[in-house]
Amino acid sequence: MCVMTERQKLLGLDTDELGAVAVESGEKAYRGRQIAGWLYSRGAREIRDMKNLPTGFRAALEALYTVGRSQVVKAALSKDRTFKLLLKLSDGELIETVGMPYTDRFSCCVSTQAGCPVNCLFCATGASGFKRSLTAAEIVDQVLTVGEYAVTQKALKVNGRVSHVVFMGMGEPLLNYEATLKAVRLLNSELGIGMRNITVSTIGYIPGIYKLAAEHLQLTLAISLHAVDEEQRRKLVPGMSRYSLREIIDAARAYIRETNRRVTFEYCLLKGVNDSRDDAIRLASLLKGLNCHVNLIPYNRVAGSGFKAPEPKCVADFFTILEASHIQVTQREQLGAGIAAACGQLRRQSG
Ligand code: SF4
Repeated sequence: MCVMTERQKLLGLDTDELGAVAVESGEKAYRGRQIAGWLYSRGAREIRDMKNLPTGFRAALEALYTVGRSQVVKAALSKDRTFKLLLKLSDGELIETVGMPYTDRFSCCVSTQAGCPVNCLFCATGASGFKRSLTAAEIVDQVLTVGEYAVTQKALKVNGRVSHVVFMGMGEPLLNYEATLKAVRLLNSELGIGMRNITVSTIGYIPGIYKLAAEHLQLTLAISLHAVDEEQRRKLVPGMSRYSLREIIDAARAYIRETNRRVTFEYCLLKGVNDSRDDAIRLASLLKGLNCHVNLIPYNRVAGSGFKAPEPKCVADFFTILEASHIQVTQREQLGAGIAAACGQLRRQSG
């Protein structure tokens, strides 16, 4: 009886691990550096494309490994040059990734799970359920694919590679801790993306925040707060209701102490829910004395969610109150109009 074993992916291995793969096949360890170059710099999709490897070695690799890239099944391009790609993984799962070419940098927003188990009330990803966590290879693949897609689209006017990565797409990165951390390290060591140009965003999974703090990395931690009282947060983020706001602030404080890095708090403004002047005053009081920055995100409407975008005046007032309380605050630009820009929307439309 012939037993077929599934081939492993080369993508997701770092230079040293690829060197070990080469040695196992009777080659020198420096071949690992050559394979890494093909995977992470030259975008090889097939082992047979790795032309500077000996033919026999390529054949030996092909028997045991694949490269492990995804396929783009849909692309949506906005007038502001933001673009979203729907990617099909090897098992058929669909995930989204976003490219944001700004004037001073080229950012990619990656997903860490297919769907999400947290089920936030205002989120299209949460509404579509949870399938599985992604591997480090599937996370890094998104950054490679966004970079490759950008150079094929003249309208995007992108010169150069992805410079910044935000872990803010579908899924909760800290519930997929090992793959997230491995992807962070690969982006840094193999794609040359500076640690300070990487942001990991969490909905407030406290054990993950403490674990990440202990790694002492120089990446940016963003914590999505979205509420200023316990009941409101439990309603909006039911999947994290076991953690109180006080515990989240304590975890943020520990992260700052361990890493000496400022923490970002994301606050999604929902009309009539959490966008009042009183909410702004309470947020300022909650964050008082913390080395932090608040990013206000006016809600991006998800069909059927029941939430509405805040009035511009409410957003402006909220901003002014935080600023007057000496909290550093920015407002996220509304990018991606017309391309289902909130995470999970494009996948939902294709489901
Ligand atoms: S907002 Fe983030 S954590 Fe919440 S359901 Fe959506 S993807 Fe999951």
